[in-house]
Order: sequence, then structure tokens, then C-alpha cells
Amino acid sequence: MRNYPVVTDAHAHVKTKAEALERIREGIPTMVCGTDPEDARWVMELCHMPEAEGILFPVFGLHPWYADQWKVEDMMPYLENCQVIGEIGMDSLWCNVPLKRQKEVLEKQLQIAAEWKRPVVLHTKDQEREILELIRKYPNTYLVHWYSTDHDLDGYLDLDCYFSVGPDVIWNPAVQRVARQVPEKRILLETDGMDAVKWAWEEGQKNQNYAIKEQESIRETTQKQPEEIVVKDSLHATARMAAKLRNSSPEILISLTTDNFLTFFGNSY
Ligand SMILES: [Zn+2]
Repeated sequence: MRNYPVVTDAHAHVKTKAEALERIREGIPTMVCGTDPEDARWVMELCHMPEAEGILFPVFGLHPWYADQWKVEDMMPYLENCQVIGEIGMDSLWCNVPLKRQKEVLEKQLQIAAEWKRPVVLHTKDQEREILELIRKYPNTYLVHWYSTDHDLDGYLDLDCYFSVGPDVIWNPAVQRVARQVPEKRILLETDGMDAVKWAWEEGQKNQNYAIKEQESIRETTQKQPEEIVVKDSLHATARMAAKLRNSSPEILISLTTDNFLTFFGNSY
């Protein structure tokens, strides 16, 4: 197997201790999202393991999916204890939380982040335009996670946002467009956690021949079946595809995304 430089994961939900330990063992710096107070407590526990230092970085924010179950105030002890705020945003594709409530929760956290000068990770499903209008009011460093729509990308690019590209870059044309267009200093890699990797893989199976060919090459490179794919395999596969789309090499893309990961964090000091 090729010897890649250190690979980073700019967005993950880590559901098991085994996965946290895998990331530590493999030395994959990861931004681990805590999405509500209960999840944040779990993430805090993982990130406070002594061996997690310098590898697992907590990112806390009240996620739009849970905006009707909790208040921003409930998240405050966690917001105060992280360098990056997120993932926050709005979503009318994967949840039914009233948009008015989602917007209130988002705006409150955008205000806090801008006031505290902490970078923000955004979740934008089918609410891209609304969120763009909102973040224009709160100048800050933004990372748009898994952008997968073919409109309004230019607006986010104009605001100099970071973008993390995930495992469906193998087959999703909108994500491929992001991978092609984001400037060198703004591209990042993500898994969104291993549940999302599994989802992307299964969706890929239903997709074009091209995706299947790519997946076969992942299988050849890793000698693994889909259910055996681990964090590093997914990040490397994403990097290989993103590199191909950018006429670059996976090694260059990986070191670039690792530099960008550190720069994004650097903005939080
Ligand atoms: Zn997420």
C-alpha cells in the first residue's frame, strides 16, 4: 500500500470508544462533533482521554436536528469549552424541526461565535441560501461541511469559507463540483463518522458505473469488503477521488488538507 502523509478528518461523529481509539492509534487528527448536551458530554469524555490529546478535538454546537429539544443555554458549558463551534445550521431535508426555531438557535450561536472569535462549522441541508444571508451578518471563519447542492456555492466561496469533502465525492456530482472548485487553502477531508461512510458506500452501489469502478479500486487498494472499511481507508479514498478531480495527487491533497486543518484551528486562538 502507498505510504500517505498524516491524514485529517475535519468532521466526525464518533459513536464508539473503539472508533475513538482507532483514530488515536492511527494518528488521525479529528474534529469530533457533539450535537446536543448529552452527545457533547460523551464527546468531552472521549476527547479528555489522556491519549486523545492532539488527536481528538471537540467541536460543540446545538445541531438543527435537536433545536426543538434543547436550548442554546443548555449547550453553554460545552460552547465555553471548545475552540470551534459547530455543527450548527439549518436543515429542511433530513428533519422536521420548524425552520423558525432552527434559525433562532443558529443565529444565537453565530452571534456567540463571532463575539468570542471562534470558527464555526456549518450544516446547510437545503437551506444554503438562508444560511448564506445569515452568515454575511456575522463575519467569521466558516467551514461548510458536506456541501452537496449545485446552487449558491459561489456565495460561500466569496466569503472565503473552508469546505470539507466527504465519502460521496466518489459518486455525487454536487460534491465533486465542490472538490474541483474550492481553492487549495480551503479544502478539507471528512468522514462525518462511520455511519455516514457506510451510507455513502451503499448509495454509491446504486449509482453510476463510474462509482462502482471507483469502489472496486478502493476494494483493490485496501483488500477489504465494504463492512471492513475503516476511518483511514475512507479518508484515503476521498482524497484519491478529490485529487483526481483536481488533477493533483493524493499525497499532495492529503498534505494540503492537513495544513488547512491546522490553519482552520489556528484561527481559533
Ligand atoms: Zn455532522
